[in-house]
Amino acid sequence: INRNPGEAEFHQAVHEVLESLGPVLVKYPEFGRHKIIERICEPERQIIFRVPWMDDNNEVQINRGFRVQFNSALGPYKGGIRFHPSVYLGVVKFLGFEQIFKNGLTGMPIGGAKGGSDFDPKGKSENEIMRFCQSFMTELQRHTGEYTDVPAGDIGVGTREVGYLFGQYKRITNRYESGVLTGKGLDWGGALARTEATGYGTVYFLNEMLKARGDALEGKTCIVSGSGNVAIYAISKLQELGAKVVACSDSNGFIHDPDGLDLALVKQIKEVERRRIKEYAKQKNGARYLAKGRIWSVPCDIALPCATQNELNGKDAQELIKNGCIAVAEGANMPSTPEAVDAFLNTGIAYGPGKAANAGGVATSALEMQQNASRDVWSFEFTDKRLSEIMTGIHQRCYETAEEFGTPGNYVNGANIAGFIKVAKAMVALGLI
Ligand code: NDP
Repeated sequence: INRNPGEAEFHQAVHEVLESLGPVLVKYPEFGRHKIIERICEPERQIIFRVPWMDDNNEVQINRGFRVQFNSALGPYKGGIRFHPSVYLGVVKFLGFEQIFKNGLTGMPIGGAKGGSDFDPKGKSENEIMRFCQSFMTELQRHTGEYTDVPAGDIGVGTREVGYLFGQYKRITNRYESGVLTGKGLDWGGALARTEATGYGTVYFLNEMLKARGDALEGKTCIVSGSGNVAIYAISKLQELGAKVVACSDSNGFIHDPDGLDLALVKQIKEVERRRIKEYAKQKNGARYLAKGRIWSVPCDIALPCATQNELNGKDAQELIKNGCIAVAEGANMPSTPEAVDAFLNTGIAYGPGKAANAGGVATSALEMQQNASRDVWSFEFTDKRLSEIMTGIHQRCYETAEEFGTPGNYVNGANIAGFIKVAKAMVALGLI
């Protein structure tokens, strides 16, 4: 804490992982000898840079850009870019730290990183977004590359922004290096099913947790926070597998539609018109919008936090449990506070932490890299099948590891331990780097 002052989210993420690792250090004393814990908590490289850009009124604006290249023992750094006013070093470091273990869990050859800026895309014109992305990449390109560091999208960064980032990279380097970014558009090197992957993958993981308990998704009532990329495709897969989704949200409030969400309308409002989720209640009979309301107060069988960190606190968790919630699968990164996680684990409901449940996004990014490297294009069905197999594999690894280390059913321990062992073994093998 003294070494990284003021980085609350980073401390939280580290604490949560280290809490799982006691028995691992007993079983693998070489990890202690090689000081893996101390090394893994220290990023290999942190880059902080100025991002100057010109707004539509010809006024100069300055934002701060970040890239934290945390660990490359398993492969090139890999992790998204976030544009949101709340971004500062502590957020980027927590996300990069989580990414190390998540990427290890996928079994793919990718290291962990994260980046972003305190730039707020809300209310910006198309041209402002483009100019910002170009300025951001003008600096970032020095540090990225197919074999070095491969960024992707995250909050506030979707296909449009990845396009502007990729265009600027191509222009500066004079290289059509498709594998330098993932989450690209389908016409210029993107992979089918990448857009859907994080949301779909979270539901595949949830499905496996339910199966392990002899239960199924069919007929379950679900709530999903957020209404961005992850939330939309989680809702889509939940509905496809026979669940009813009755609520979703944004940072201003949530909508409740007891008949089940009309996903086509949600997509029209969010993906096509780029408007707020409250528009839904104006257009759909029987739906209501609750400004500033807590989505977690809506009774449900299953909750999927798919918005942002610490969006679900201890009180929310108690309310979910009281209302009969039997499972929580995290599409977002670290959405549950430590108090909420404790409540889920103590009650014994099925709880899938983000670094396992939402790993389908980065895993499919690695599949996009594979396609770029071989100049191939796979079908949606083929990629989706790979994604589903990867999520089943991650679930199994977490499940078995939790059992092996004496905490059956605890996916937090399962994910932390399995991800850590994979990376730690590679760090030992590569020597003191
Ligand atoms: P988007 O930008 O597409 O959507 C984010 C959604 O979350 C929006 O509805 C947004 O509402 C809401 N949100 C953001 N910040 C807050 C906040 N402070 N309070 C309440 N709601 C908020 O991002 P994604 O869907 O891509 O990302 C969502 C989560 O999933 C993040 O935690 C991300 O790290 C994680 N994730 C994403 C992956 C991906 O492939 N995209 C992969 C793995 C994890 P509003 O419009 O009001 O801001």
